[in-house]
Amino acid sequence: MVSSTQPSIKTKPILEMQGITKTFHGFTALHDVNLTIYPGEVHALMGENGAGKSTLMKILAGAYIADAGEIRIDGQLVKMTDPGQARDLGIAIIYQELNLAPNLTVAENIFMGSELKKGATLIDEEGMRRQAAQVLENLDASFDAEDLVSKLSIAEQQQVEIARALKDRSRILVMDEPTAALSDRETEKLFEVVRRLRNEGIAIIYISHRMEEIYALADRVSVIRDGGYIGSLERREISADRLVEMMVGRPLQDLYEHKRRITPGSVVLEVTNLSDGRKVKSASFQLHAGEILGLAGLVGAGRTELARLIFGADRRTSGEIKLQGRSLNISEPTNAIEAGIAYVPEDRKNLGLLLEMSSGENITLNVLDREAKAGIINSKSLVSIVADAINNLAIRLASPSIRAMDLSGGNQQKLLLARWLAINPKVLLLDEPTRGVDIGAKSEIYRIMSDLAAQGVAILMISSELPEIVGMSDRVLVMRAGYLVGEVGGSTREAITQENIMAYATGAREVAKS
Ligand code: ADP
Ligand code: MG
Repeated sequence: MVSSTQPSIKTKPILEMQGITKTFHGFTALHDVNLTIYPGEVHALMGENGAGKSTLMKILAGAYIADAGEIRIDGQLVKMTDPGQARDLGIAIIYQELNLAPNLTVAENIFMGSELKKGATLIDEEGMRRQAAQVLENLDASFDAEDLVSKLSIAEQQQVEIARALKDRSRILVMDEPTAALSDRETEKLFEVVRRLRNEGIAIIYISHRMEEIYALADRVSVIRDGGYIGSLERREISADRLVEMMVGRPLQDLYEHKRRITPGSVVLEVTNLSDGRKVKSASFQLHAGEILGLAGLVGAGRTELARLIFGADRRTSGEIKLQGRSLNISEPTNAIEAGIAYVPEDRKNLGLLLEMSSGENITLNVLDREAKAGIINSKSLVSIVADAINNLAIRLASPSIRAMDLSGGNQQKLLLARWLAINPKVLLLDEPTRGVDIGAKSEIYRIMSDLAAQGVAILMISSELPEIVGMSDRVLVMRAGYLVGEVGGSTREAITQENIMAYATGAREVAKS
């Protein structure tokens, strides 16, 4: 698909990583990865969360040792066995989690581990301060060498790390998602610094998955996916479509792979005149087997509140909920869960997952009662529930014992889905199912939703992303100010388009819906 390309500059690589492989307890984080870097280039390293970018860079830094593969600097084979060695070879890494001592001064941090000496033992404070000040001036920094690091902003702390790399005369500088915590202004400033370093001949490996940063900075890009090397592009070959395809493994337009169903299945959930006396006003609708029903609307329209009412998380003041023709008495979530209704909340960190607990424990949270006979939990069946979920949802983790908080956003979202799929729901209420997850995890979540619908699960999907609503829904309800004000798709004569949905969501179009 994509070939590795040589840059037009006729220089020799400063760094070649070849066939790098790394496993963690049997989990392959990197497999046969190549990376070639030239002096004076900004080389973007792209890939989704969990692709292996940080692991590759930690190997370069001597923080991890590769199981296989070679590293060459200026064509010379090197064995990277500890961080000090990498530094001596001119490699500096600025990690996502900055690595400074807050209670020391800027100068002390810059010289940490390589303090200047006066004579045999005396530390040359003055010399360190002078040299540090010089490097800071070079960086156009707005703080002083004597300042305490704890007083600095994140952006300034980052500059301290860059200053440390310059002081060490580093020739390869790795920045791992450096703008994640920066404001736009700070980002611009960082870009200036990066460009200046490039012009001085330093090779910069820049990790990011923000497309606009790649456009702004990158001379070349290499992509890894699932621990494998996919390919490299030169600046003139870079396009968002191409990069997304390389990162995700399929073209962007195929992201929503759901085939719209025209003929609905039988009615699974029927909601009549449901109200909470505040945000939800007499909502009535039907949800069919195998249907993905989109629930669109502006923020604050009452969509989450409607889902919570159906799930019993909030109290209804009137209305009826029927499941397969039977009226349900839902006054709390356990009633809904027993009936086979699952609600995957929008806020996966506070409401969805128990972050301190293991991934496996999170998956089984909702089925402990079911799997317990006479108070004894069948741990064998729990193990297989966990294994099946990890497998079916392609959750990428080294072991189920990994804490939920240590997973990437996309994998956390899949974990949350797994927790609710474990109850084998008939009705699945999804609230912003792909918010904050990267594009690959997104496409996998869409695939999972499509598969579930094909198996007959009735899905209600709340989403603020119109392309997602349009791409995934068989039919769409629109909510505004507490009322269900419109329906598009299905048996209506209105097509599922962003315009039709927005017309209802904003009140531009008013149709009384019974
Ligand atoms: P990226 O930086 O591209 O988001 P990482 O290199 O951090 O990805 O992680 C790649 C994969 O390796 C992930 O699935 C991650 O969970 C796993 N991984 C990384 N470090 C470790 C570790 N120390 N132990 C176990 N698994 C790890
Ligand atoms: Mg990373």
